[in-house]
Amino acid sequence: LMALQPDVSKPRYVRVNTLKLSTEAASDELGKHYKVHKDDLVPDLLVLPPGTDLHDHHLVKNGSVLLQGKASSMVAVALDPRPGWEVLDACSAPGNKTVHLAALMRGEGKIIACEQNKERVKLLEYTIKQAGATNVEVLHEDFLTLSPVDPSYSKVRGILVDPSCSGSGTAVDRLDHLLPSYQPGHVDPGEIHRLTKLAAFQKMALEHALSFPGVERVVYSTCSIHQIENEDVINSVLPLAISQGFELGTPFPQWTRRGLPVIEQSKHLLRADPVEDKEGFFIALFVRSIHQSEPHQ
Ligand code: SAM
Repeated sequence: LMALQPDVSKPRYVRVNTLKLSTEAASDELGKHYKVHKDDLVPDLLVLPPGTDLHDHHLVKNGSVLLQGKASSMVAVALDPRPGWEVLDACSAPGNKTVHLAALMRGEGKIIACEQNKERVKLLEYTIKQAGATNVEVLHEDFLTLSPVDPSYSKVRGILVDPSCSGSGTAVDRLDHLLPSYQPGHVDPGEIHRLTKLAAFQKMALEHALSFPGVERVVYSTCSIHQIENEDVINSVLPLAISQGFELGTPFPQWTRRGLPVIEQSKHLLRADPVEDKEGFFIALFVRSIHQSEPHQ
């Protein structure tokens, strides 16, 4: 029975949508009723006590703050899009990271948000409207069919690849990790087939992103704890990435939990741990400087 108690140690993270409200104003407003502090690593992320239920809070309902976890809020920050850039969100619904990109870009520049599933396009459109993001163009397409040489994408400098994954990093909300038999990363034999199919798509999507000629930064993320969807995907695209002039960047170098040491470059990869961080997550960053051959003015 002990194992069925809710996990009361997970803080309630709240990401402020700075398109609508400043972090200070959100903190003051939430601070009227809750103990609030700013996250030490992720900008515009507030930390409230575990168990805080904000689903009906007016700031959530009017899109001023989003109930988004810490690791999930690190992904758009890792891409580091500048105001005025063009960026592509390859797998975007329901759009939490799309509108985070919009906020980081202060509404300047353009975000192309691609989503294949028709029902989920509606969720994406709702999230964008709710967040007040005006510089997002929604594409109801299969990302793999977008032509990298299409002039519509020639100015794309950043791509976020947050593909469908097993969700094994967030499935611990089912409290499996409190069971004595819990083994992080363990895969049932019957599950391997599904993971292999997911990993094949993840690899294709990431390779596709790396093939856009003007792109300088590509972030790959999953909410999976499995090596096959994370380090193995990165390892399998590295030769192509390197041949295209990319190298692995190090998102959040201060963060201590890095990739599993199964590839040489694992220190560049970022992992969040389902037990320690209450959320399993993976982030990788590819960077290249394509403007390096331009003469300095
Ligand atoms: N980035 C989203 C967010 O932060 O709110 C979550 C993305 S979710 C993990 C993956 C999404 O990719 C799903 O909505 C799925 O329908 C979509 N998807 C799967 N295959 C796709 C494809 N080939 N092209 C575009 N979108 C795809």
